[in-house]
Amino acid sequence: MSTAQAISQQGRTAVRNSYDVLVVGAGFAGLYMLYRLRALGLKVRVFEKGAGVGGTWYWNRYPGARCDVESMQYSYSFSEELQREWDWSERYASQPEILQYANHVADRFNLRPDIELNTHIVACVFDEEAGSWSVTTSDGRIVTARFVVLATGCLSNARVPDIQGLHGFSGPVYHTGNWPHEPVDFKGLRVGVIGTGSSGIQVVPMIAERAKHLTVFQRTANFSIPARNAPLTDQDRQPFRAKYSEVRRFMRELSRSGLYGEVAERGAFEDDDNVRRAKYEARWAHGGTTFLSSAYSDLYVNKAANDTAADFVRKKIAEIVKDEETAKLLQPNTHPIGTKRICVDTDYFTTFNRPNITLVDIRSDPIQEILSDGLRTQAKSFQLDALVLATGFDAMTGSLAKIEIRGRAGLTLNRKWAEGPKSYLGLMIAGFPNLFVITGPGSPSVLSNMIVSIEQHVDWIADCLNYMRERGLDVIDADKQAEDKWVAHVNELANGTLFPQADSWYLGANVPGKPRIFMPYIGGVAAYRKICNEVAAKGYDGFEMTAARAPKPVAVS
Ligand code: FAD
Ligand code: NAP
Repeated sequence: MSTAQAISQQGRTAVRNSYDVLVVGAGFAGLYMLYRLRALGLKVRVFEKGAGVGGTWYWNRYPGARCDVESMQYSYSFSEELQREWDWSERYASQPEILQYANHVADRFNLRPDIELNTHIVACVFDEEAGSWSVTTSDGRIVTARFVVLATGCLSNARVPDIQGLHGFSGPVYHTGNWPHEPVDFKGLRVGVIGTGSSGIQVVPMIAERAKHLTVFQRTANFSIPARNAPLTDQDRQPFRAKYSEVRRFMRELSRSGLYGEVAERGAFEDDDNVRRAKYEARWAHGGTTFLSSAYSDLYVNKAANDTAADFVRKKIAEIVKDEETAKLLQPNTHPIGTKRICVDTDYFTTFNRPNITLVDIRSDPIQEILSDGLRTQAKSFQLDALVLATGFDAMTGSLAKIEIRGRAGLTLNRKWAEGPKSYLGLMIAGFPNLFVITGPGSPSVLSNMIVSIEQHVDWIADCLNYMRERGLDVIDADKQAEDKWVAHVNELANGTLFPQADSWYLGANVPGKPRIFMPYIGGVAAYRKICNEVAAKGYDGFEMTAARAPKPVAVS
């Protein structure tokens, strides 16, 4: 019998709190998964550890948080009505507006009755006999489900670095990825920010405006492109809406990154210096991540080509930042441009022209300890009233690793992934039947406009479950050989690019001891979608589908 609550009923097994599908996480992935599965008539339950829906946008409430993909594209495409009725107010929506959108989706599609908030999933154990999962919640309940979908997010496990003395700091310590719900006011305070990735680059200008003094502790300078954020009016939205179906098709089927726009076809050296500079200037003036994705086709594979874009951005930084030494420190020189997620900012570099900001290079002068009233590097001490950690996430695998997941023969996922994540298509893991991961390692995921990748995975999973139901099949597992082949393909593609040259979170390099494996699939969303569709069209090639050994549980309420 699969759970303590199982009771026998007419020779079949009846289980209290049994679902067809249990979904973990109520961010954009979990919400859409629930919507699709419900439409199939399945009994679904979503568990979310936060007190609200929205995932990333529920947790990352720091001042300045906003999307770096344009709002008209960073939104669901599954409902024509939704995309016509929702009016984004800015080119890049702010966190409160994106969170409002997630809540609107939950209400509009009446999703809340099937979502349990404030409930952390701590363990998932596969019951071989029943062909289903026993799932343990943080309040000690055991729930069973035929299928589990992990919609736990790639950037949902905020990482607090192990810096000596951190816990003895007498002022408040905030992490950008777990920001308080109450307003935080830095007025009149001496504030320290550690970290200059996308979060740090967004929060720094906002804090500098309020604080008495802001000290930014930078280990690695990052490339950032101005967002050129602006209000959106009906005149901006209407033409876009008029071609929404073309836009969405392009994002899904023709693009690498899930973004609508120009596709780079020429190599950087097919243009002469003047033409190339003019192209970069136009993209810098336009703003946003398309600076790279639309410029040249070889920027991620040819270091000399990449240098032309990197040099352009370094020169811009030198032009903007008045103090020469600060400008020099802000110019990235540790990695090719784009091999760490490129940042998109509002006034980041100009903020360093303010009188109340200091940049400290902790690569040459590392942090020694946090003091009760400040921070000490090897060479200097800094008095601080508040500390902000913009130190990122244990990305892609962090939230999965925190759940005790046991598959066939008691194998844990953490053991299987001890040398790095292995999956088939980033969707399933051999030996862990009926367990799906949305935007998991091995899929385009974080290299794309993530809502495009989320919708694709959700649709694929829903279609797969429907296929199985129509054929009376209960259990699906990835084939080990198909998985090995996919992992080799993912690595081979990554190794053909400049990406492994950066110590990025894509490679797990930001977490001491994490295996250095390039986790996302770099072949692009269009190519990846085609592969997934072909796998499905061939009767789920590389997957094994069977009937459960034990009779199917009957859900009782
Ligand atoms: P999440 O939104 O992370 O949701 C996962 C949910 O699962 C969380 O609410 C979490 O609490 C819950 N959860 C995790 N583990 C458990 C557990 N054991 N039990 C119960 N619940 C659990 N992507 C883009 O494409 N464009 C952008 O502009 C962009 N901006 C970003 C800005 C920030 C600040 C960050 C951090 C990320 C950004 N991303 C962006 C990536 C972003 O994470 C995705 O776009 C998207 O929101 C992910 O949705 P999700 O549902 O997959 O995961
Ligand atoms: P991140 O990119 O990993 O940046 C973390 C920063 O903290 C880096 O500068 C890192 O330095 C520094 N750091 C980490 N540990 C440190 C330590 N022990 N001592 C000193 N410095 C340390 O994290 P993030 O900025 O939160 O962004 C993560 C991802 O979330 C982004 O890449 C993006 O995908 C998404 N995001 C998007 C947006 C947006 O614009 N829409 C905003 C925020 C986040 P090193 O580089 O030297 O490790």
